[in-house]
Amino acid sequence: MEIYDHPTFHMACQQFDLVADHLQIPHDERDRLKYPKRSMTVALPIHRDDGSTQVFPGYRVQHFLTLGPTKGGLRYHPDVRLGEVAALAMWMSWKCALTGLPYGGAKGGITCDPSKMSLTELERLTRRYTQEMIPFIGPQIDVMAPDVGTNEQVMAWMMDTYSVHNGYTVPSIVTGKPVALGGSQGRREATGRGVAYLANRATDTIGLDMSKATAAVQGYGNVGSVAALSLARYGAKVIAVSDVRGGIYNRDGLDLWKLDEHVARTKSVVGFPEAEAISNDELLLLPCDILVPAAMERQITAANAGKIQCRIIAEAANGPTTPEADVILNQRPEIFIIPDVLCNAGGVVVSYFEWVQDLQSFFWGETEVVDKLFRILETAWTQTLTVSRKQKIPMRFAALSLGIKRVQEAKRLRGLFP
Ligand code: NAD
Repeated sequence: MEIYDHPTFHMACQQFDLVADHLQIPHDERDRLKYPKRSMTVALPIHRDDGSTQVFPGYRVQHFLTLGPTKGGLRYHPDVRLGEVAALAMWMSWKCALTGLPYGGAKGGITCDPSKMSLTELERLTRRYTQEMIPFIGPQIDVMAPDVGTNEQVMAWMMDTYSVHNGYTVPSIVTGKPVALGGSQGRREATGRGVAYLANRATDTIGLDMSKATAAVQGYGNVGSVAALSLARYGAKVIAVSDVRGGIYNRDGLDLWKLDEHVARTKSVVGFPEAEAISNDELLLLPCDILVPAAMERQITAANAGKIQCRIIAEAANGPTTPEADVILNQRPEIFIIPDVLCNAGGVVVSYFEWVQDLQSFFWGETEVVDKLFRILETAWTQTLTVSRKQKIPMRFAALSLGIKRVQEAKRLRGLFP
C-alpha cells in the first residue's frame, strides 16, 4: 500500500515479515495482519495569532479492530507523516497484545511544530483535530493519549471538545488527562517508571550491579526524564541526557533535581552549568551500562550500532533501532536489548487502568496503580525472556512473536470482517 510509504513503515513491515517467517504465518494472512484497518487524513485550518489562516495535516491510523477499541498516542511534530503514524499504530497492536490489553493499536499525529506555536494556537489546533475525528473515535472505538509534543493539557482540550459535542462529560475518551479531570494517578510517570523497572530486571538477568551502573538517556521529555529519575532511584548514576537541542555529560553523575529546575526555567537541558556539552550522536556512543533512547525512531542504525558501548539498551522510544542495526547488535551478545514493545509498555498499561477507572467512575490510589503496572510488566518480561531463551531468538523477536501470534489468533477466531 503506497499511501504508507515511509522509512519507519518499511522498518515496521520488515520486523513483521521476519517474525511472520519465524512463526510460519501463511502468506495469505500476512497483509491482513500488517496493514492498518482504517486510516484518516484531515486538513485542519486554524486562525494564527497574527490573524492569518494556516492549514495543518492531521492523521489517525487504527491498525487492528478485532479485540476492542483501538488505543494509541497523538504526536505533534514537524516530521509527522501518514506512514510514520501507521508504523507506530502497528507497534501499538503488538504491544497491547504482548501485555494482554483488550485493545488494538492506533496512533495519530499533526504535522506541526508545537515549540513555534502559542498555547492558544495549540488549543485551536487540538480542538479542530478532535472535531474532525469525532465520527471515528469514542470510548469503545478509539481512545487517544499523549505522545511526543503532546501532554495532559492537550488531552484535557480533547476531552472537553468531545464532551461538549456529546452534551455530557466523557472522561474515558482520552487517557493521560490531568488527574483533576479523571486522569489516573501515576499515568504521567508510567512509561518512564516501567522502563526503569525493566532495566532493573535486565541488570539482574545479566548480573550487573545497579548501584554501580551508569546510564545515558537520549530525549529528556516526559518518558526520558522520568526514566532517568527512576533509574537513579534504583541506584544508577545518570551521566548524560539530551533533548532536540543537544546533550550534557558529567562522568560523576548529573544532579537530576537541579537539572529539572534548569529545564523548567530554560525549556532545555542545554546550558546546565554542572556538565559539559555533547551532541546526541556522541551520547549514544558513550561508555555506560544502560543506554535509554527516549526520543524518536531510527536513532540506532547500521552506522553507529557497532560502536555503541553499553551493556543494556532500554528502548523507551518507539522504533529507535533499525532492522539493519539489529543485525549488528545481534552479533554482540554483550549487549542486552529490552525491545520497545516491551520496554515502554508501562504507558499504555496505565492508560488502560485510566480507561477502566473512568468507565467505572471508581478511582485507585497510586500504590495500587504502580503495583498492578509492575505485575503486568513482570508477566510480559518473563514470557518474553522465556521465549527468547527457549527458542534462542533475540528479545525483540520474542516480544514481537508473542504479540503478533495473539493478534493472529484473535483474527482467525473472529473471521474476515474485523
Ligand atoms: P516528549 O515530547 O515529552 O519528549 C521527547 C523528547 O525528545 C524531548 O526532550 C525532545 O526535545 C527530544 N527530542 C526530539 N527529537 C529529538 C532528536 N532528534 N534527538 C534527541 N532528542 C530529541 O515525548 P515523550 O512522550 O517523552 O515520548 C518520547 C518517546 O517515547 C517517543 O518515541 C514516544 O513514542 C515514546 N513513548 C511515549 C509514551 C508516553 O506515555 N508518552 C509511551 C510509550 C512510548
